[in-house]
This record gives sequence, C-alpha cells and structure tokens, in this order.
Amino acid sequence: MRWSRILRFSVLSSQYEPILLRTENWELRTGSKTKTLAILLATVTLLSAAPSALPSPDEKHISVYSPVAIYTLPVVDRAGREYVGLLELLEPLGRVRTESEGRRWRLRYNAVDAEFVAGKTRARIGGRDFDFIAPFLLENARGLVPVSSLSGFLPRFLGTPVNFRESARRLFVGDVGIQISFQLDASDPPRLALNFSAPVNPTISTEPGKLRMVFKRDPVVSPGSQSISFDNQVITHASYTENNGNAELEVGANEPLIATFTNNRRSIIVSAVPQGTIANGAPNATAPQNPTQAPSPGAPAANIASGNANINANVNIHRILAVVDPAHGGEERGAALTDKLAEKDVTLGFARLLRHELEIRGFAVALLRDGDTTSTLDQRAAAANVAHAAVYISLHAVAQGSGAHVYTALLPVEGTSKGIFHAWNAAQAPSLPVSRIVSAAIVAEMQKREFPVQGSSASLRPLNNVFMPAVAVELAPGANGVADLTSANYQQRAASAIANAVASVRDCLGVQQ
Ligand SMILES: [Zn+2]
Repeated sequence: MRWSRILRFSVLSSQYEPILLRTENWELRTGSKTKTLAILLATVTLLSAAPSALPSPDEKHISVYSPVAIYTLPVVDRAGREYVGLLELLEPLGRVRTESEGRRWRLRYNAVDAEFVAGKTRARIGGRDFDFIAPFLLENARGLVPVSSLSGFLPRFLGTPVNFRESARRLFVGDVGIQISFQLDASDPPRLALNFSAPVNPTISTEPGKLRMVFKRDPVVSPGSQSISFDNQVITHASYTENNGNAELEVGANEPLIATFTNNRRSIIVSAVPQGTIANGAPNATAPQNPTQAPSPGAPAANIASGNANINANVNIHRILAVVDPAHGGEERGAALTDKLAEKDVTLGFARLLRHELEIRGFAVALLRDGDTTSTLDQRAAAANVAHAAVYISLHAVAQGSGAHVYTALLPVEGTSKGIFHAWNAAQAPSLPVSRIVSAAIVAEMQKREFPVQGSSASLRPLNNVFMPAVAVELAPGANGVADLTSANYQQRAASAIANAVASVRDCLGVQQ
C-alpha cells in the first residue's frame, strides 16, 4: 500500500515518550448492575508504540514543508554531488506511480508524466525537456535526482512555485513560510517577544549567554536580517541561521534566560531568569531549585530555563496524548468496501497517517491497534481511559456517500453519573461539549480545504464510553470513488485536516471534571 512507503520515508516523527500505563480496575455502574472491568494486559500492549527512526543529527537531509505534509528526506552523495530519491520526494505530496524498464524510469505524479534515463542529464517532464545539472541515477529501481536541480524541475510536477534554500537544505512548496517578528519590552527585567505567524514547536536549549531555538519541523523563514541588535543591557541580540534542514534562532544576553510559550505556541517570551530563581551553576545562584516549572498535564505553556542544556521543549512539557482508534480489526473486518477491501485495513492505514500528522503537530499519539488484531469496544474505551488520553479519535470507512462524516456521541437519556463513578454508557457526558468543539473544528477545517464533510451525533460505541473528548471520523470516497479510500493522497488530505483541527483546539482537550 502506498501509505506504508510514505511512513517509511517520513522520518520526522518525534521521539516516543514511553506511555506509562497502570493496570487498574474500573468500577462502572450501568443502571442497577455493577460491573468491574479489568483492563486486560492485551489492551495495554495495544498502546505500546514502535520506536520511530530519527535522522541522526549529522546525517544530511532536506526538510520539505508543504501545505499537505512536512517531512525530511535523506540526501546521498554521488560523484561529489548531492542527490535525493524522486519518488520519496513526491509521494507525500500526491499520487505517484513509477515504472522502470532497463535504463528508462517513468514516473507519473498526479497527471504529469515524466521519463528519465539513467546516466543522462536530459529528462522529459510534462511533455517538455528538462536538463538536470548532473546525470539522473537509477539504483535498485530507485530514481535519484541532483538536489541542485530541485527548484528548476519541481514546479513542473507540482504546478506551484517552490523555494529551495539549497545551502540550508530547506524546501518550501507553495506559501507555507512562518514569519517571525521581534518585540522588545525594555522594562525591568526586559522581555523579548518572538511572534510567529503560526504555532511553532522548537527545541530549546541554553548555554551561558545564549538561548537557542532549533526549528526542525516548522517552516519558519528568515526575519529579514540575519542578526538584530537590541539597545538593551540584558538582552543584546538575536540571530537567525539555517543549516541541514533546520532553522535556528539564538538570543544573546548578559544574564541567564528563560523562555515561555504563549498564545497557543505562536509566541515565545524570552526573559531573564527572575532574581532568586537562578539555577545552580549560574552566577549568583541563590535558589536551591532549578527553575523549570513542570506544567500541569495539558497545559499549553512551558518554561524552559537557563542552566538546563539541551532541553527538548517537546519532552519537557507534558505532551498531549491523542488516542487514535482504527475501528475493527482481526476477525472483525468491518464493512466490505469492495469484494477485496475490508474496512479494517483502510482504518489502520488512515490511523497511521493521522498519527504522523498529529505527531508533527506536537502530540504524543497511541494507536489502539497497530496491526491486524481484534479488540472489543469495551477494551478500546478502557484502553483510552486508562491512558488518560486528552482526546480520542475513532476512524471508520464506508463505501457510500462522499468525503467525511464526523460524529460525536449521542448519549442515552437514562445515562447519568453517580458520584465519582461514571455510568459506562454515559461516561462521555462531561466531555461532550468539548467533543462537539473538536467535531466542529474538524468540519470547519475540512470545509476550508474543500473536502466534503458532514457533522452529526450518533449512538456509536465506544464514543459513549470514553471520558475524554471523543469523535469518530468516517472516511467516504471522494471524486474517484472507492479507489480514494486507499489513496494516500486522499487519506493524507483528511488526516492533515483532522490533525490541524485537533491542534487548533488543543487548549480545550483533556478529561472534563
Ligand atoms: Zn466501521
């Protein structure tokens, strides 16, 4: 399947935090009956996630930023030049097919046909010749193109301008750049606000006199001048550099600095560490404790303080856990979408894409199954509840209708909660208002992207049984009929819209009291 290749080459996924699970017994009341649900070990193992490959810091790679996907590609050196795989480059962006025949390699991207010959610089793309700066290479049926030619030929495939910053190995497809602006408040202590045109998720570290932010996945662009000096005694300057697929902002100061995210991660406030809270090892250390604050779960702000080198903002804050549930599985095939295609296979592929999309937006993600395994609806709900997920997303697929249907729970009238026990069939009740916010955000985001969508409520288990905000998304075919259900491009559009929507309401998520 196409998606499996996308996942393999999208090596962006962040490091996994181990998800700590305790086996607990839940006492749940349904009407007069009391049942105790032991959480099976089997359910818990469903949540364990496979470690994902991270590029090593010195390995050369290109970061690609486009409205549909953000990913990195390995760069290889051949005869003194840098090359990338063309299939890996195009596949996350659209529908790609390749075919090789001897030294000829043909590729179709959406409706654009191209033909390459191994060892030749001239290729035919979209009916016209294109001359590469160095020969096209074919290795094990994998077509490699010289990196220096990317900005020349890519627009022929994509139909949109690209901006390739070759020395930085950062490729921007379309209008995706995140702008940065600076604002210094010179009061005492001074504060520097870094404002971004979209949420960002840098890795923040400090060393004496410096606070450094590395943007691995955010398409931030140069603030205009590479270096800015501030007329201030404490915060003296900021500089911007780009290298090997990353952008980096460094703030220089004469005192230890602390950084705080605000405004839904669209702003980072850099200020001097308040007097009396300076970390051990810093000059004038008076406070015994390290000033990094551990925010409460789900809190949007995090303080990254001086004295802690190489703190990853992703790890330091409690990452919001999203549970993605590919419906059906194992014995239980779900709907027969065609003679050969079972719903359970579509939901799994779609779930893996959604996991990736959520991860690149800073979520920790657990799939309730990452293979063809069977679990009951109660087990699924219990697994999400035990994991204390902040949001639960169930995925279904259907052969009828078009686009996507987004559901929230329709609770039974008689289901009420008693004390600290939630009626099992109305466990969702306290979170339902937030579930509706999530659903509305997904509908709005899909409409914005012209993806047909309908939102409604349905008595759809296990939505009723989970404590946290919960939605089910059912993927229906698009313009190409049932074939869309297995199309990476189609699934990707839906997954990216869902992830964007969930990220836009991340501050509301979590179990409601
Ligand atoms: Zn289903």
